[in-house]
Amino acid sequence: MKNIAIAIHGGAGTITRASLTPEQDTAYRAALEEAVAAGHKVLADGGSALDAVELAVVHLEDTPLFNAGKGSVFTKEGKHEMDAAIMCGKTLGAGAVAGVHSIRNPVKLSRAVMELSDHVMLSGYGAEEFAINHGLAFAPEDYFFDAFRYKQWAEVRDSNIFMLDHTVNVDEKFGTVGAVALDQEGNIAAATSTGGMTNKRYNRIGDSPIIGAGNYANNKTCAISCTGHGEYFVRAVVAYDVSCLIEYKGLTLQQACEEVVMKKLVAFGGEGGLIAVNAAGDIAMPFNCEGMYRASIKNDAKATVDIYRDEN
Ligand code: ASP
Repeated sequence: MKNIAIAIHGGAGTITRASLTPEQDTAYRAALEEAVAAGHKVLADGGSALDAVELAVVHLEDTPLFNAGKGSVFTKEGKHEMDAAIMCGKTLGAGAVAGVHSIRNPVKLSRAVMELSDHVMLSGYGAEEFAINHGLAFAPEDYFFDAFRYKQWAEVRDSNIFMLDHTVNVDEKFGTVGAVALDQEGNIAAATSTGGMTNKRYNRIGDSPIIGAGNYANNKTCAISCTGHGEYFVRAVVAYDVSCLIEYKGLTLQQACEEVVMKKLVAFGGEGGLIAVNAAGDIAMPFNCEGMYRASIKNDAKATVDIYRDEN
């Protein structure tokens, strides 16, 4: 069988062994394992990297554990506004949606934008109308209600604080989800989906739907999905920067990822991480904070599922 590979993330931040109960630890690992296995099956059956990353992200969007789809955080107005993007490394085709409400799986809508429109990014009502026209599934407001995230928001809604998912005062965690994959044809793809940041201003857009910032794929270099404080990832153009270091400077995938996440972003003050894969099946998953929910499978190996830094 030709090389296949998939990596996924469910966010990064101050995730330590002490911050999760054993039950939470088990639940997160099970959700990651299920999502990575679903994407891997697509690849093993000869499916495309695009289908694999979309399906893995749909699984993550459907669990309330992560800040995307069903588990999306609350905005300052007590609403949910979601962003997502997908990119094909073979064609450099890309689709993204920003600030959408009530869409059950924003990653599916981003794929529809890529394949069924002449545009790359649609936002707000325009994106939702496009979703209606193309028969995408909507969900009522209470589908997105999660008691934990409501409490999280209620603690800060009267302030100007906007914070990353699961944040408890000074702790920072980012619960965005993403997937990158290599298929048997040698094509790579990336997808990312998020509810953004708790108590964010309405219509605030982070890095996740911005091609080149939070999401990027190019068969010549790599496929990347990021998680972290979006304002920094946008300004550091993180995903494209990794790709450029490979394309123009000849760095390996691992070297390029380390350069951007562990050096450039750290110096800039941008906390977070990313997952990356290339057409040779190399996988890199660097992060500059305490932990990142992550999982990967290469060829027919067993899934690797990790959360904390000391599991590297
Ligand atoms: N990057 C996302 C944003 O800023 C947040 C996250 O990764 O959880 O919207």
